[in-house]
Amino acid sequence: MSDSDEQQQRRESKHKAAMQKQKAKVDARIEEASTERGVAVLVTGNGKGKSSSAFGMVLRALGYGQKVGVVQFIKGEQLSGEELFVRDHLPQVDFYQMGTGFTWNTQDRSGDIAAARTTWEKALAMLQDPAYDLVVLDELTYMIGYDYLPEQEIIDAIANRPCEQSVVITGRGGGSALQEVVDTVSEVKDVKHAFRAGIKARRGVDY
Ligand code: ATP
Ligand code: MG
Repeated sequence: MSDSDEQQQRRESKHKAAMQKQKAKVDARIEEASTERGVAVLVTGNGKGKSSSAFGMVLRALGYGQKVGVVQFIKGEQLSGEELFVRDHLPQVDFYQMGTGFTWNTQDRSGDIAAARTTWEKALAMLQDPAYDLVVLDELTYMIGYDYLPEQEIIDAIANRPCEQSVVITGRGGGSALQEVVDTVSEVKDVKHAFRAGIKARRGVDY
């Protein structure tokens, strides 16, 4: 056996031992997790990947035939691919978007608040209905940040939702009270974004 063969073999057995140790740790932790209930997830931060992560979970839930509701608190001018797909091909998903009455450009605060309220009522009905396995509240954090909806009402609704129901909230910010009430918080970090290099938003990737 040549030197390099021996080195290669040593590296492989070291790797195997490290992986076995890692697996034992993970298995022990899985064994320890004993609570079975729905989870509340907040995907926040300035990087790209928040809403697309939420829609990834929609796909997961649908794979198990679960009942899914999606409420979007900000509607872009251009419908995204996932919005088009849900609307046209997934009639089993209850999908609600804040109407066109809402736009950052109108600077019509009372109109925006009214639109936010109507949208929140839809979300609230889902958060009170145990038939939903997964509820996505896309871009909800801005409603708190802009003070369009009372933070406490949102926190209470999340805390008091049916035990088996999971909820995913997306959007930058959100505040510490929201972070407190959810179980999982992921912050997507903006390391680099194509847009800043002058690359146009891409169909199928960005929308
Ligand atoms: P995605 O929908 O792609 O998961 P997101 O939900 O994390 O993105 P939003 O703030 O909702 O981000 O904005 C959605 C759009 O803005 C997407 O087209 C995304 O590529 C773009 N975007 C997100 N983050 C950044 C950023 N840091 N700089 C520039 N554009 C961004
Ligand atoms: Mg988003």
